[in-house]
Amino acid sequence: MPAWRTISLWMDQLEEPLRARPSLEKDLDVDVAIIGAGYTGLWTAYYLKRLAPDLKIAIIEAQTAGFGASGRNGGWLMGNLLGEDRLLADLPAEQRRASFDLLHRIPDEVEVVLEREGIDCDFRKGGVLYCAARYPEQESSLRRYLDSLYRQGLNEADYCWLSPEQLAQQIRVAKPYGAIFAPHCATIQPAKLVSGLARAVERMGVSIYENSPVSHWQSGRLRTAKASVRSRWIVPAVEGYAVTLAPLGRYQLPVQSLLVATEPLSASTWDEIGLSRGQAFSESSRQVTYGQRTADNRLVFGARGGYQFAGKLRHDFDLTRNEVELRRYLFGELFPQLKSVNITHSWGGNLGMSRRFKPHMLCDQRSGIALSGGYGGEGVGASHLGGRTLADLILGRDTERVRQPWVIAQGGLDALKAWEPEPLRWLGYNAIIRSFIHEDQALADPTSAPWRRKLASQVAGFMEGFMR
Ligand SMILES: Cc1cc2nc3c(=O)[nH]c(=O)nc-3n(C[C@H](O)[C@H](O)[C@H](O)COP(=O)(O)OP(=O)(O)OC[C@H]3O[C@@H](n4cnc5c(N)ncnc54)[C@H](O)[C@@H]3O)c2cc1C
Repeated sequence: MPAWRTISLWMDQLEEPLRARPSLEKDLDVDVAIIGAGYTGLWTAYYLKRLAPDLKIAIIEAQTAGFGASGRNGGWLMGNLLGEDRLLADLPAEQRRASFDLLHRIPDEVEVVLEREGIDCDFRKGGVLYCAARYPEQESSLRRYLDSLYRQGLNEADYCWLSPEQLAQQIRVAKPYGAIFAPHCATIQPAKLVSGLARAVERMGVSIYENSPVSHWQSGRLRTAKASVRSRWIVPAVEGYAVTLAPLGRYQLPVQSLLVATEPLSASTWDEIGLSRGQAFSESSRQVTYGQRTADNRLVFGARGGYQFAGKLRHDFDLTRNEVELRRYLFGELFPQLKSVNITHSWGGNLGMSRRFKPHMLCDQRSGIALSGGYGGEGVGASHLGGRTLADLILGRDTERVRQPWVIAQGGLDALKAWEPEPLRWLGYNAIIRSFIHEDQALADPTSAPWRRKLASQVAGFMEGFMR
């Protein structure tokens, strides 16, 4: 039995024994074959079965349900999509508002399923705090961001500014400059969601095969080492692992994100910090940080990880000392009382980044291929929408979901934009990240000259422009 418990704090906390499901030993003939038992694959199966209970559905998983990002993430269940502002920019105002509402409803829709299926994954809808909490420039950039949201038709009920005093009612950070609060976000225990969903779809009659990596796939067919599957529909739901299923790696690159978890903290420490309602929080630098207070009172805190040359998957998530200490430094800036706290778990995972830095939900009736991905680190909620949308598309249903700008209903894989060849990607990624690190160092140092701060931000902002 592989050491699946060591994948993350979340997998370690699962109460049930982690027994492998049977692997695929015999050829199958099904209606829908899904590759990968993460949220995308499981939500797709779930909604297909609800809408068409007679469908024969098999999920073929390389390792175990939750082995990928779904068993490792930071547990922010957001009512958002990466790049939604760009995706919705060209829509008429009323339609744009309706699309935002569709996204904002995601956490509530997930909650309905959790109740219906009896899945306890520590769901708490406390909203999200995007804090300006390390240097003053964060306040101006967050205020600019808030203005841009309001220009798109969003209002104070969607996103509101919190003064340092208002922020302190929710979270006490060492240097509060203010924050944006948005209510449409919940925090969860990610592995409990993925394992609960896997059990739910099995109850509905879906077969899940584990320890069965798919080696070849094409329209109507896939193959593992021991068996092959014929199916009207093939749904590769492998997100950060697209490189394992050519040609998907051309369109979706693996990028890593890394997290740490502290030991459970005392009630008095949490009285100092706050976060009493399950709020998610970040410190809004370009380090892409994200945190939550877990149901068992740990701090879980993550930040951007890396990109490996040629889009290689990272398999070893025993974090180096530097990787752990960078995260300790970042949360220690917010909560100095935690600077020397005991870190019990550290881990990371691969997530999928599309060339356009925004997600896609694609369905090609001709070839029978459907996929959803490119969530770029914002996939917990997006995969629910993705799975539900794929179910609608596969069944040919005309719903609000299939009429969104992230849906690609024609052109198949060719409609996706391919990444540039190496070494361009690696050089580009590293140039961008270096500019972010340089900016962070300049801004976090109170003695940096104003011209240096400004220049560092301008360069980082310019480089970030390549990710749009
Ligand atoms: C460290 C980290 C933190 C994150 N934090 C957040 C967060 O807080 N909020 C948020 O919204 N998003 C977050 N994300 C992103 C989010 O977790 C993912 O977008 C989401 O889980 C993707 O789900 P998925 O089912 O598409 O992919 P995955 O969960 O990665 O599942 C893919 C599955 O496919 C299997 N597989 C791969 N190749 C094959 C093959 N050849 N054959 C068969 N099976 C295969 C894998 O084993 C895996 O189980 C984070 C991601 C990471 C890595």
